[in-house]
Amino acid sequence: MSADPPPRTVGQNVSRSAASAPSTVPSPQSRGSDANAVEVRRSTRRRRTVSAYREGDRTVVLIPARMSEAEEQRWVRVMLEKLAAQESKRMLGDAELAARAEWLSGQYLSGRARPDSVRWVTNQNTRWGSCTPAEGSIRLSHRLQGMPEYVVDYVLLHELAHLLVPGHGRRFWQLLEAYPRTERARGYLEGVVAAARLPHLSGPRTTSRKATVPGR
Ligand SMILES: [Zn+2]
Repeated sequence: MSADPPPRTVGQNVSRSAASAPSTVPSPQSRGSDANAVEVRRSTRRRRTVSAYREGDRTVVLIPARMSEAEEQRWVRVMLEKLAAQESKRMLGDAELAARAEWLSGQYLSGRARPDSVRWVTNQNTRWGSCTPAEGSIRLSHRLQGMPEYVVDYVLLHELAHLLVPGHGRRFWQLLEAYPRTERARGYLEGVVAAARLPHLSGPRTTSRKATVPGR
């Protein structure tokens, strides 16, 4: 890991009619010097949007220059909440994953698949998901994090179905027929694998490893 990921930014439209051109010069305002300092930057180019991101220990909030103090305070609060919500979502916990599994099982498998544990793992680089029916455990690769929800759902449902039917015979695929995005999700994952093999896109550790799409 040599490069830091780009900063995650949350944005928000300020639903107010645009005022006349602002006259304020952009002026960084620092608030406090503690580890959780919030820096508000006013921008004359910014009219209707507020955005925020973490920069080291600080949180930077970008607002339109014309905003009043009261609006600024309100939006800083809103953006801090949005950032926090996004961060907790990114770290979608195992508990949430288990809840998702229960919902999927109820929706598509008549609730018959009842895993004892569902969790993310980081040591699974050749498979998107796996399960051990004897233990009732399901593991999903952390590489799925950040992929569309329907893809994660598909892999989860796939593993749930394995709790009922091992292998990939006709009975297995019949279980997945109820899920409307099976084909689309499989196509997405195949695309991810294919893209990782393209020589000009140097994905992490993909050149010599064979990535296995579940269901193969
Ligand atoms: Zn499978």
